[in-house]
Amino acid sequence: MRSPTTLASLADELRAIVGQSGVLHAGSDLLVFECDGYQIEKNSPDIAAFPRSTDEVARVVRAAARYEIPIVPRGAGTSLAGGCLPVGGGLMIVLTRMKRILEINLRDRYAVVEPGVVNAWLNQALAGTGYHYAPDPSSQGACTIGGNVATNSGGPHTLKYGVTVNHVLGLEAVLADGRVIQCGGPAEDSPGLDLVGALVGSEGTLAIVAKIWVRLTRNPQGCRTMLAVYDTIDEATDTISQIIGAGIIPAAIEMMDQGIIAAVEQAYHFGFPLDAQAVLLIEVDGLEAGLDAQRDVVAELCRQCGARNVQFAADATERQLLWKSRKQAFGAIGRLSPNYCTQDGVVPRTKLPHILRRILAIGEKHRVRIVNVFHAGDGNIHPIILYDEREPGAIERVLQASGEILDECIHCGGSVTGEHGIGVEKIRYMAKMFTADDLAAMEHLRTAFNPENRLNPCKMLPTAGGCGMEQIRPGRRAAL
Ligand SMILES: Cc1cc2nc3c(=O)[nH]c(=O)nc-3n(C[C@H](O)[C@H](O)[C@H](O)COP(=O)(O)OP(=O)(O)OC[C@H]3O[C@@H](n4cnc5c(N)ncnc54)[C@H](O)[C@@H]3O)c2cc1C
Repeated sequence: MRSPTTLASLADELRAIVGQSGVLHAGSDLLVFECDGYQIEKNSPDIAAFPRSTDEVARVVRAAARYEIPIVPRGAGTSLAGGCLPVGGGLMIVLTRMKRILEINLRDRYAVVEPGVVNAWLNQALAGTGYHYAPDPSSQGACTIGGNVATNSGGPHTLKYGVTVNHVLGLEAVLADGRVIQCGGPAEDSPGLDLVGALVGSEGTLAIVAKIWVRLTRNPQGCRTMLAVYDTIDEATDTISQIIGAGIIPAAIEMMDQGIIAAVEQAYHFGFPLDAQAVLLIEVDGLEAGLDAQRDVVAELCRQCGARNVQFAADATERQLLWKSRKQAFGAIGRLSPNYCTQDGVVPRTKLPHILRRILAIGEKHRVRIVNVFHAGDGNIHPIILYDEREPGAIERVLQASGEILDECIHCGGSVTGEHGIGVEKIRYMAKMFTADDLAAMEHLRTAFNPENRLNPCKMLPTAGGCGMEQIRPGRRAAL
């Protein structure tokens, strides 16, 4: 079905739609798309197309349908769960040329963007207006709003402001047969089934998102940002429960452990104490009146739980510096190890001390170093497992450690993903999280949108009628 001649003829058709520079077909050009932020499994697409408009996406999808070739949508490729791994090859539709902010409407508090707009660009465009777009994944300097919609991204400020689905008003999307639909729109409420809710977080398995109406949020009048330094992880995690238990919902509570502190310090020289076992980055925001009092209560709770030091950001520059340290933490990990695998589990907040102890023990058992930086306020953990793919057996040990951590999250009453999605990485855990009936209901929904399962196959759902992930395994070239 996918002979070189067929692929060459599809490539010609695609060039007629998106132009010569909008199609990549040579193997060497496609290597860059063989994985996303999840580096353990790799496979190249057969062709990549870069449409510039909804109409071009629709025509590309219709061409792919004629050739019965699978389609993998891709934004910036920062997914950490292999969401854009082209299992079995196929056509990759890269949305990064659709990068226009089409409208900013402050009176009605929404903006309209194309899917390839990088998350941070929207807030740059909104600077000075008194409004912002709230979802702020730590990858926001690179990831696209289309990718955020597909994975229902969270971020440091999710604790107070919610995840992406809470900020999407409407979507224009291209179905698997090339038809274009709109669900929701600029108004707050739309009748009918909540298809926006269905599409957000569907990881490119239901439709290709081509336009997004997002809600804009009024900037808080003020904020107070602080860094609490701890000698033990338990003291830090205990603080989180104490703060929430006291009825205070900070805008963010982020935690970095000793390994991350050291990496960040080496890379960026922020002045973090290298002997600390954990730091919490805490921000409260809202009306100016009362913010100082709230900050003082939080700082006192930190001290009561054992913080050796609580440092306040004196001004906007210091606040920015503290946030930079958190948001660039991942970038610093390259100093620790040539490869890393970031896990993404959730536990009830009170189980944080337990899960962190278990992570330490699991790392020791499988002889892998694990460092932690995460959205602690949500109970969303991100153990980062360091490895060197050239070392024999390293990937197997990473996978075993990952599996045990996720099993423990389920055991604690949590989940196997807080925000990164299922992709290919977590597919085998779906049957642990859901009953057969749950999965069948999800499968019915996918079939309604994507009857031939050509949109992002082998992702999310391991149920019957799916692609048979057990049979079709992605190339594990990294492991060889
Ligand atoms: C350093 C780092 C920090 C991160 N921090 C966070 C964080 O704080 N919070 C968080 O939630 N995630 C985080 N992530 C994960 C990742 O950035 C997010 O999942 C992000 O939303 C992916 O966006 P992307 O544009 O890179 O999408 P991609 O990686 O390109 O794609 C992700 C998924 O979305 C699908 N997709 C992409 N675009 C479309 C579209 N237009 N229509 C339909 N489907 C589409 C793809 O098929 C794939 O399944 C982080 C990643 C890194 C590397």
